[in-house]
Amino acid sequence: MDRYAVIGHPIGHSKSPLIHTWFAQATEQALTYTAIEAPLDGFAATVDAFRAAGGRGVNVTLPFKIEACAYADEVSERARLAGAANALAFDGTRCRAENFDGVGLARDITVNLGHPVAGRRVLMLGAGGAARGALQPLLQAAPTLLLVANRSTDKAAALVASFHAQGWGHGVLRAAGLDELVDAGRFDIVVNATSASLADQALPLPPQIFGPDTLAYDMVYGQGLTPFLRQAQQAGAGRLADGIGMLVEQAAEAFAWWRGVRPDTAAVIQRLATPLT
Ligand code: NDP
Repeated sequence: MDRYAVIGHPIGHSKSPLIHTWFAQATEQALTYTAIEAPLDGFAATVDAFRAAGGRGVNVTLPFKIEACAYADEVSERARLAGAANALAFDGTRCRAENFDGVGLARDITVNLGHPVAGRRVLMLGAGGAARGALQPLLQAAPTLLLVANRSTDKAAALVASFHAQGWGHGVLRAAGLDELVDAGRFDIVVNATSASLADQALPLPPQIFGPDTLAYDMVYGQGLTPFLRQAQQAGAGRLADGIGMLVEQAAEAFAWWRGVRPDTAAVIQRLATPLT
């Protein structure tokens, strides 16, 4: 059986072993997928040991995504722009790195939720790793505006400037502070890529950014109606979603990359979904 794993610290919370085991059953692929907790100073040694034992690939989660990029021999443009990798594939002595988080988000929004990005105004709240990884796949979906708004305005500006410097997002990708959103108008899609929901904190968002056609998307999952989703609902946002679809879609992308067969995601998302109430 081919061996795969997810590596993080801590790792007990990870749904990846469940998701990949369901994918393997559905596609009749002979593989095992386990969770490995690496010591904080032992990511590379843990990956080396897994490869030596015949491992074919790993997913990488916090706090090792940046280190995973540095570990690889070959880094995709997507992972390079994201500055982080969430999947590694081992082919003989070579290691390739990819980042599927953003493509999972874009696919969840456009395919699963049926909300087009092309020609729409998109607001990305946050400028950390998750926001950064989402920018290139969202830009590829051709929005008219992709505004990155962050509590620390400088961090949003630096992120946008680094994309512009690498030839991405001119005229579309812009930066703002959260306090500047009052004049920003209404958005078709508002993605919360801050970690505020994990701390049960609300963001200072003006209600006029939401409208009846707005999709409010919180990257956090398994928390029900987060403070952000509640704010959006109260402000009249037409559609609410959490990040479980993003999680399952990035897993499906990694599975397809490793195995050459893309599993169906709808049933898995349904099994893992938490009601947004
Ligand atoms: P980071 O720590 O890299 O970034 C955190 C971001 O949140 C920063 O922009 C920070 O702003 C902002 N922030 C935190 N607290 C507040 C607050 N109280 N008010 C305003 N802004 C705040 O985290 P990640 O980017 O790695 O993760 C962000 C979220 O995305 C997490 O909740 C994570 O669970 C989720 N995620 C979901 C995935 C999925 O598959 N569904 C995949 C990856 C992540 P500042 O710069 O000003 O400090």
